[in-house]
Amino acid sequence: MCLSQLSKCFSGFSSLLPAITYKHKSLVSSFTPTRETARAISQATKEEQEVLVVVGGGAAGVYGAIHAKTLAPHLAVLVIEKGKPLSKVKVSGGGRCNVTNGDSADNMILAENYPRGHKELRGSFFNVHSPVDTMSWFTSHGVELKIEDDGRVFPVSDSSSSIIECLMSEVRQKGVSVQTRKTVTGVSVLSSGKFLLKVGQQLSDHVEQVEADYLLLASGSSRQGYTLASQLGHSIVDPVPSLFTLKIEDLRLRELSGVTFPRVKVRLKLDSVQRNIPQLTQVGPMLVTHWGLSGPVILRLSAWGARHLFSSGYKGRLTVDFIPDLHVGSLMSVLSHHKQQYVKQKVLNSCPAEFGISKRFWSYMLERQGLSGDILWASISNSSLMSIGSLLKECIFEVTGKGQFKDEFVTAGGVPLSEISLNTMESKICSRLFFAGEILNVDGVTGGFNFQNAWSGGFIAGTTIGGLALASYQGQSERIVDL
Ligand SMILES: Cc1cc2nc3c(=O)[nH]c(=O)nc-3n(C[C@H](O)[C@H](O)[C@H](O)COP(=O)(O)OP(=O)(O)OC[C@H]3O[C@@H](n4cnc5c(N)ncnc54)[C@H](O)[C@@H]3O)c2cc1C
Repeated sequence: MCLSQLSKCFSGFSSLLPAITYKHKSLVSSFTPTRETARAISQATKEEQEVLVVVGGGAAGVYGAIHAKTLAPHLAVLVIEKGKPLSKVKVSGGGRCNVTNGDSADNMILAENYPRGHKELRGSFFNVHSPVDTMSWFTSHGVELKIEDDGRVFPVSDSSSSIIECLMSEVRQKGVSVQTRKTVTGVSVLSSGKFLLKVGQQLSDHVEQVEADYLLLASGSSRQGYTLASQLGHSIVDPVPSLFTLKIEDLRLRELSGVTFPRVKVRLKLDSVQRNIPQLTQVGPMLVTHWGLSGPVILRLSAWGARHLFSSGYKGRLTVDFIPDLHVGSLMSVLSHHKQQYVKQKVLNSCPAEFGISKRFWSYMLERQGLSGDILWASISNSSLMSIGSLLKECIFEVTGKGQFKDEFVTAGGVPLSEISLNTMESKICSRLFFAGEILNVDGVTGGFNFQNAWSGGFIAGTTIGGLALASYQGQSERIVDL
């Protein structure tokens, strides 16, 4: 908190009473406010409270609201949500909610999981609120968590409802007001320094106007959220999809749908990218789907290549090394040895166990090489052996598009991190404006990193706002005592 922010809190003190006016079509008149808004705001008015409005009741907004209210109980906190609160939490992780990632104890390494944000997030961001802090917060609020082998953290219940119930119970206990089915459609700054928000209601043409002392934009990847940020002077990095599967036109590959590979090395080559980008090579588990390739390694590749893939129209060449832990020389010796050992066996029925691949996939490889699975190992020529070996090490797939599979899907782009202070989440352009979550130009790979961005940002923004409101409140009390 800086002095200039504090002095602004005090200068607005005489006009702290939040105003509500209502518009009906083009007529501006005083309609009766909706009951919920009226209750939340009139309570604030009575007690001359400051008001925080949070736009968006997702992970970042709700977590931020709870922490602001925890630190400054006198602050009126209003979350405005156009749909249902925490709806993405509900569907996340296939309904299990991958809350965070428990693998990265080192915050510098943790930051490397963010294709957008990896440089900036190396600083204070995770030191203030790390995955360990997230886990202890949920645990201390009654949600038992478990860390799976790959580092992903889930509630022991394997149900996202545990996370939602915990957050919503805290919202109720702390007295945060959540108003749903309302959309913030516009914002401006009054001469008093307060924010004036236009709030539309679903199924009604009423427009409320709500004043706020502090504004937290946590509207995820919604276009409306970007518009609000622009109205307050921010620029927006063009949003493009991240974390998607790759479409491959290969009918024979489709027949392998469901086949998994625990560890492959994939390399993506795009016409629009001439230089070597290390992150366009990834290693990890892969899955064959009905329309192409998926699994953690592909999702990670799509995240790092999100912008390049977008500008290439999602077309490129993917080279897969199916046996990344065997050097090509060793792989050839395995094949030659196998040929000598299994002379009388049909090629299809006997694949070297060292490769750890399924019979279905082995059959696909033989077919791609134009080899009949019925021939005996004894009859395979050395050149055929060589070509099978190189296909296993460098199998090329033509990427023809982006899959629609939405197990996890995020947006790259949004408010640039250079326009906010990451140690407070406050805008560098507009005082008392804060951001958290996916609205920022931050996105992570799969594994709980995207929620962690929401929890850390929400915590930092919420506690900064709470601190400012508390200082303002204490200043007010001191002035009353002085009188
Ligand atoms: C299917 C799916 C599964 C996922 N699973 C995981 C997972 O397991 N682990 C993980 O780490 N990440 C996961 N993610 C990503 C994660 O859900 C997001 O990164 C995270 O929800 C971002 O939180 P947020 O609060 O910033 O935004 P959101 O969760 O998108 O919340 C923003 C909210 O703001 C509201 N809003 C927007 N504009 C306005 C407006 N103008 N007025 C009022 N309200 C508005 C929206 O309705 C929304 O509820 C998943 C994403 C998807 C789509």
